[in-house]
Amino acid sequence: MPPEGRAAARKKAMIDLAAALAHVVADSRPLLPRRVRLEEGRGRRLVEPIVADVDSPPWNRAMMDGFAVRSADMVDGAGESAAPMSLDVVVDLAAGDASSLEIRPGSCARIMTGAPIPVGTDAVVPIECAVEGTAGVHAGGVVRLHDPRFRAGQHVGLQGCAFRAGAEVLPAGTLLTPAAVGLAAEAGATHVVVVPRPRVAILSTGSEIVAPEALPRFGQTRNSNGPMLAAAVAALGGEPVALGTAVDRPEPLRAAVSQGLAADILLLSGGVSAGDLDLVPDTFRRCGVEKIFHKVRLKPGKPVWFGCFTRPDGGGRCLVFGLPGNPASSLVCFDLFVRPALASLLGWPQGRLSLPRRRARLGGGAKGAEDRPVYAPCRLESGDGGSLVAHPLPWTGSSDLVGLAVADAYLALPAGVRRAEAGDDVEVVMLRDDSERV
Ligand code: AMP
Ligand code: MG
Repeated sequence: MPPEGRAAARKKAMIDLAAALAHVVADSRPLLPRRVRLEEGRGRRLVEPIVADVDSPPWNRAMMDGFAVRSADMVDGAGESAAPMSLDVVVDLAAGDASSLEIRPGSCARIMTGAPIPVGTDAVVPIECAVEGTAGVHAGGVVRLHDPRFRAGQHVGLQGCAFRAGAEVLPAGTLLTPAAVGLAAEAGATHVVVVPRPRVAILSTGSEIVAPEALPRFGQTRNSNGPMLAAAVAALGGEPVALGTAVDRPEPLRAAVSQGLAADILLLSGGVSAGDLDLVPDTFRRCGVEKIFHKVRLKPGKPVWFGCFTRPDGGGRCLVFGLPGNPASSLVCFDLFVRPALASLLGWPQGRLSLPRRRARLGGGAKGAEDRPVYAPCRLESGDGGSLVAHPLPWTGSSDLVGLAVADAYLALPAGVRRAEAGDDVEVVMLRDDSERV
């Protein structure tokens, strides 16, 4: 959107969802990469590749417990009827032992998994192939080996067969899964350069809000937004910073907001509508947060507020979301606006910032709205030929999380569709896209 278009949109009272999303994305930039200890990089994406400083395996390595032999002393695929081979055991090698002894024809080494195979040998005969009570023979004895399936070079991990020193074992962009962390460690990477986890401060507001452990008294409401938003942030790879609850009074609210502005993102819920105690927009203004939009044509989620706070002296920025207090509205706004912002800070590709949308056939009647698009919970089922069927879930409105808790997707009905019927072609927003997580 050109700057003059954005300025005009900022002035308008209520904006369309697409315009709101464009503002959020335009103001969200990837965080600067940071060099961290490998263990702290777990779950992050590499910004710089990892190059190995050793070969893997670093030397020719025994892959079984048994006897290191010269293949020339054995008979390939000798079969069950072949006679056992008698070999002199000249050395015992455990993992960690290194020997410069050369194994001559007619001899072998007793060797354990992980030890370098000695000079002269090129295969390992498993201990199970030692016959006539010779499996326990050590250096100085004679072992009788019967390996009907023997193949030259067997059970040896050849030096560099997995990777070579100097090879890029993990390219930039790789997600540091447990396997990738293990590989990085093997390749000698003690530190990695990754996009850090965005810190997301979560503040619930409302004098009536009590902690989930409390039994709410008459007029009180348990805080479901705090734990819900923290879970949503963590699931995407952000670091939730719980700021607890602030009452609807200007000073405590201002103190809590100021604290939250130290984070990369501040998610505040409640107090953003037009009620007497909806002090949040004014508090944001007094804290120096620049308003970008307030109120979006959307149901639920209309009161959502978005702005940006620039810390003085080049101290970075905080994206500020005022989410509606009603939990279902809060979650819809998280999924539609906060998720793309967080994904953007995490350096995800542009095409993946928003949840994916698909077409589906409606499995039952659903109510829309004349003036706003409606996002309602639905369950998905596969239909014929890879198609999707969307079954609307019971939903009583913006405070009701029961349907959302088991939903696979939002049924997204555009403004003007007052009612959709079973069989209609509809759009759904998929809630189970875990592929880019953390
Ligand atoms: P508000 O946006 O402050 O007008 O709140 C709208 C509704 O959401 C009210 O019924 C609040 O009690 C409720 N609400 C606000 N914050 C929360 C919260 N953190 N958890 C659950 N419900 C809330
Ligand atoms: Mg309130």
